[in-house]
Amino acid sequence: MSEPEKSFEPCCKDMTTAMSFPAGRHFFVENGVLMLTVARSILKDGSEGILEHPVRFCPFCGKPVQDRSESAGPWGHQ
Ligand SMILES: [Zn+2]
Repeated sequence: MSEPEKSFEPCCKDMTTAMSFPAGRHFFVENGVLMLTVARSILKDGSEGILEHPVRFCPFCGKPVQDRSESAGPWGHQ
């Protein structure tokens, strides 16, 4: 449960640590893409709204983290 998805290998120790937080984790992998939870709040209807954003560069060491995705060009358009 605390193991990050195998398809993604953290590029540095800080990222490994960030992804291993047992609760309130901000980094997670979805479809092989590293995602960052930017904001999280309870909506009016009581459900939880989460704003997530794909991470392109590691915020800790600055390395590109999406090099495994083949669908998008190297620095292609969104
Ligand atoms: Zn890193």
